[in-house]
Amino acid sequence: MNEYGFELALAAHLETEREGILSRQLGTAVSGRRIMDLVWVEPGPEFHSRVELTAETIPARAIESDVGPGRFRFWRDAFDNHPETARSTVERAIDCGFFEQERRTGRTYVRQTTRYPEWFGRLVGIENKPDLGTPGDLETQLLTDVAVGLLDEVILATESYVTRAHENRIPDPVGIWRFDRERGELEVIRESESLPTDDGGVDIIDRTSTRTEIQIVTPAEKQRARRRVAERAYGKGWRTDELPGCTKLDPTNPQLPETQREAGLPYCRWHGQIVQPATTCDPDCEGYCTGDPPDIDTENLRERRTGWVSDPTGHQRTQSGLDQFLD
Ligand code: SF4
Repeated sequence: MNEYGFELALAAHLETEREGILSRQLGTAVSGRRIMDLVWVEPGPEFHSRVELTAETIPARAIESDVGPGRFRFWRDAFDNHPETARSTVERAIDCGFFEQERRTGRTYVRQTTRYPEWFGRLVGIENKPDLGTPGDLETQLLTDVAVGLLDEVILATESYVTRAHENRIPDPVGIWRFDRERGELEVIRESESLPTDDGGVDIIDRTSTRTEIQIVTPAEKQRARRRVAERAYGKGWRTDELPGCTKLDPTNPQLPETQREAGLPYCRWHGQIVQPATTCDPDCEGYCTGDPPDIDTENLRERRTGWVSDPTGHQRTQSGLDQFLD
C-alpha cells in the first residue's frame, strides 16, 4: 500500500481543517531515534511574533545560548559549545534574523533581535499505518511515544477497517483515525488522551522480545526537545519533494478530492495515484513523458493555506549580513 501517498493526502486534508503548522518526518525522541510521520503544531499565544521573526527554523543552540534580547554580548562568551559549533550557530542565527551583530574594537557582539516568543501550544503526532495487516514496529513506536510523553497527543491514522483486536494492541492514550484518501474523509474511531508533557518521561532506546533499553528524560530536557520539534516543523513544513518534468504529473486531477486538488500533490495520471517523485519518477518509468514540471510554487501554497509567512518583515534593528566573520 502506498504509504507516502496516504501521508501526503492526509497532510493536505489536515492543512485545510486545522490552524497551525504541519510537518512530516520529524525526530520526536529525546535520546532515541523515533521519527514521527506527521506533527501538527498548534499555535500558541505569541504565534504572530514567531511568524514575523523568520520563515526558517531558528537554531536550537541559539535559543538555548546566553545571548539575550537586551545588551550585546561578545559571541564566544554566550556559548558552552565548541567554538566552531558556536560560530556556525551564530552565523545561522544572524542569517535567519534571530540575532543581530555589532562590531566593537575588532570583535563581534550579538544579541537577539527580539525575545523568543511563546508561539506554540499543543504538539500532536500522527503515525500513519494505512494497512494494519502489516504493522511492522507500530506497537513499539506507539509505546515509545506514550512512555516519553514529548507530544501532547499521539494518533494512529489508518485506511484499514479497525477491529477490536487492533484497538487492543494500540496503547490506550493513542487516538485512532480512519482516513479514506479517495474520498478525503476522516473518521475518529477513538479519541486520544493528553500525555503528561510537563513531567519527566522514559525514552525507549531499543526494545527486543527479551530486553528494553531506556533512558530517563527530565522535564527540562523534554521542554527543550519540544521546542526543537516545533522549530523544526516551522522551518520544514511537509512539502519536500521537487516535482519532476513529466507530463503525467497532474496535481489538480479531478479524481482527487477537493482538499488534495489544491495542495500541490505529486498525483500521477499514469499510476492513478500520488507518487513519491524521488523514488518513482525517472526516465526509466514506463509512463515517463518529458515536459515541464507543473507550475507550482510550494512556498506560495504553504503561505496561502497556513499561518506561515515566507518573507516576514523581521525584527533586525542593526545592519547585518555584511560581515559574517566572527572574532
Ligand atoms: S515519471 Fe512515471 S511515476 Fe513519475 S509522474 Fe511520470 S509517469 Fe508518473
